[in-house]
Amino acid sequence: MNIFGFGSFRKGQEEIIDAVLNKSDVLAMLPTGTGKSLCYQLPGYLLNGTVLIVSPLISLMQDQVDQLRMIGEKRAVALNSFLSFNEKNRVLQNLSYFRFIYISPEMLSSEYIIKKLEQLEISLFVIDEAHCISQWGHDFRPDYLNLGAVRSRLGDPPVLALTATATIEVREDIKQYLQLNNPKEFIYSVDRPNISLVVEKFEKHMKKKQRLIELIRLLEKPGVIYFSSKRLAEETVEYLRQNGFNDVAAYHGGMDPEQRILIQQQFLYGQIKIICATSAFGMGINKNNIRFIIHYHIPGQMESYLQEVGRAGRDSKQSIAFMLYCNGDELLQLQLIENELPNDIQIESYYSNESNKKGAEELNLTETQWRFLQFYQSSNMNADQVKAIKQERRLFKLNKLKQMLRWVHSYNCRRMQVMNHFNEKLLKPPINCCDICSFNINDFQEKQVMDSKAENLSWEKRLQQLLLIESG
Ligand code: ADP
Repeated sequence: MNIFGFGSFRKGQEEIIDAVLNKSDVLAMLPTGTGKSLCYQLPGYLLNGTVLIVSPLISLMQDQVDQLRMIGEKRAVALNSFLSFNEKNRVLQNLSYFRFIYISPEMLSSEYIIKKLEQLEISLFVIDEAHCISQWGHDFRPDYLNLGAVRSRLGDPPVLALTATATIEVREDIKQYLQLNNPKEFIYSVDRPNISLVVEKFEKHMKKKQRLIELIRLLEKPGVIYFSSKRLAEETVEYLRQNGFNDVAAYHGGMDPEQRILIQQQFLYGQIKIICATSAFGMGINKNNIRFIIHYHIPGQMESYLQEVGRAGRDSKQSIAFMLYCNGDELLQLQLIENELPNDIQIESYYSNESNKKGAEELNLTETQWRFLQFYQSSNMNADQVKAIKQERRLFKLNKLKQMLRWVHSYNCRRMQVMNHFNEKLLKPPINCCDICSFNINDFQEKQVMDSKAENLSWEKRLQQLLLIESG
C-alpha cells in the first residue's frame, strides 16, 4: 500500500485482492469510483508475471498508465490503436519488460498480438467494464465476446472481471463467456445515498428547455447533461452559450478522439464546467466533484441510468440527478434500439457478400453491426440464426425501455425501485432521497452549503470526517 500512498483499504478491496492473490477467478461489482484499479494493481506487485488488463476506452487506459507512472511505475503500457507503428513495434518487441499491459479488446482480435502475448506469463487477466461482454448489458461490445477464447489461448490465467453495474443475468453472462471457474463473487450495493434522484415531467419541449436553464442557474457545478442525440447535445451547447453560460462543451462519439480527450481533460481540470454529452461520455472519468447529472432524455435502461447518475458525488458530498422527461422522448431511444444491430436485410446482404469482399462501409453497417456479424459468422451461425439472436436482443431492449418508462411514471420511491432492479432492498431512504420521498430543493441546497462549510474546517476535522465516511 506504500507504493499507492493509501492508508487503508476501501470497502471490498481487501477481500477482492485476497481472492486474486489466491488465484481464484473473481467477479467483482463495485460502484464506480470506489477504487477497482487497486484490486489488480496491488496484486501486480505480488504476483509473478504480467497483469493484462482489457479496457474498452483508450482515454481510460492512458489515464491509468499515467497514474501508474505518477507513482513511479515505469513498467506500464497501453496497447491500442493510438500508438504509432514504431511505438507499437517497440512495445511488442519488449513485452516481457512490462508489469501492467492495458489492451483494447480490438487488439486482442489480432493473431499477431495474441502470439506475442502467448509468450508471456500472464499472472492475471483483468476485464474492466466486464458487463460489455453481455448482450443483455447496456453497453454491449461485440469484441468482448472473444475474450473467453483469448483467455484459453493465454493458458487460462486467473480472471478478475470488474464492473460497476450488472444485473444478475449480465453477471451470469460474464461468468459464462469468460469461462470463469468456480468464481468468487463480490457484489456491493449499487446505491449512492448522497445523490438525490428527481424526475420532472413536461408536456412541451419548450418548457423543458426553459427548465434546463433554470436548473443550470440554480445548481452547483460542475455537471453533466446527457442526451440521446449527438445533434441535440451540440445544439444545447449553443443554447446554453446564448443564455450566458460559456464554460460549456459537447462530447459525443461523433467527435475526433483527440478532441474528446481534450474536452475530457478541460472538464477534469475545471476549465469546462458543463458537458453536454451522449452516453459516450463518462466511463472511467476520474472526477470526484461532479455535483449534478441531468438526463435531458430518458436513457434506454436502468443500468445506463444508474451508471450515468453514479458519476456525480464521488467525493460523498450531496449531489443531484435530474431526469427531465417530455412525452415522446422515448422515440429517440427506440431509434437507437432499431439501429444498434443490423436489420434483416443487412444480415442477408452480409451473408450473401461472398468471401467478405465488401467492407462495413460498403454494406452500410456501423462498426458495432459489423463486429456483431463477424463474431457470429466466425461462430458458424447462419443468417437465420443471427436474425433470431438480433430479434431476441431487440425485444429485450424494448422491454428494458418500457421498465424505464414505468419508473418515470411511477409513484413509488425512485431509489427503492432502482435497488429492486438489482435485487437489493432499500432499508431506509436517505435525506433528500427522491422527488417521491418529498425531495425539497431548499433542503438539498442547505445540505450542499453545509458540505462546503465542512471544507473550511481544520485539516484534523476533515480527516476525522473522511475516516468516518470511509469506515461507514
Ligand atoms: P474505479 O475504477 O472503481 O472507478 P479507481 O480505481 O479509478 O476507481 O479509483 C478511484 C479513486 O480512488 C482514485 O483516485 C484512487 O486513487 C482512489 N483510491 C482507490 N483506492 C483507495 C484507497 N484505498 N484509499 C484512498 N483512495 C483510494
